[in-house]
Amino acid sequence: MIAGAPASGKGTQCELIKAKYGLVHISAGDLLRAEIATGTDNGKQAKEFMEKGQLVPDEIVVNMVKGRLLQPDAQEKGWLLDGYPRSYSQAMALETLGIRPDIFILLDVPDELLVERVVGRRLDPETGKIYHLKYSPPENEEIASRLTQRFDDTEEKVKLRLQTHYQNIESLVSIYEDVIVKGKWKYHGGRCIR
Ligand code: AMP
Repeated sequence: MIAGAPASGKGTQCELIKAKYGLVHISAGDLLRAEIATGTDNGKQAKEFMEKGQLVPDEIVVNMVKGRLLQPDAQEKGWLLDGYPRSYSQAMALETLGIRPDIFILLDVPDELLVERVVGRRLDPETGKIYHLKYSPPENEEIASRLTQRFDDTEEKVKLRLQTHYQNIESLVSIYEDVIVKGKWKYHGGRCIR
């Protein structure tokens, strides 16, 4: 499992871990954005909470993630859960199913960096690659012209998302204390170095 504030680098680390260990990457945020994109009832309801930087209710998220976790590819290859669980109740729902991670990675990045990273973050919808307008700009004009921004990647919304993160993270730390690995980072010229 991997946890951390918005733009703490979960997605980037997941790409590296997935490439190295061949795990199935399951991102709760991506699953929710897919529900929104296909216009399902769950997606419509979820968007209201995501717009406010709040957690989407368990009624929607718990079964959505559980269903994905139990699919054959995740069962065979092993899974990497990104952004889930994000609350005590979600972690307990997994505990009742006997689902525990081998490792719980917590990324720790200074707040002042996170806001800047969120606001400049862009996605290439064709390749799935994440860019930052200042720190990791697109390679050419063609890519630059098709970049999109997440609807919740604004300064106002990231502050709410950060609050939600800090309200919930301590309860997760207590549940996964025995398997936690903390990634501590220092700020260096807009980037984080270990
Ligand atoms: P993320 O892509 O991880 O930054 O998540 C984007 C938004 O999706 C969050 O701000 C929440 O509104 C929602 N979300 C993602 N993961 C969860 C979760 N485990 N439980 C509830 N809501 C979630």
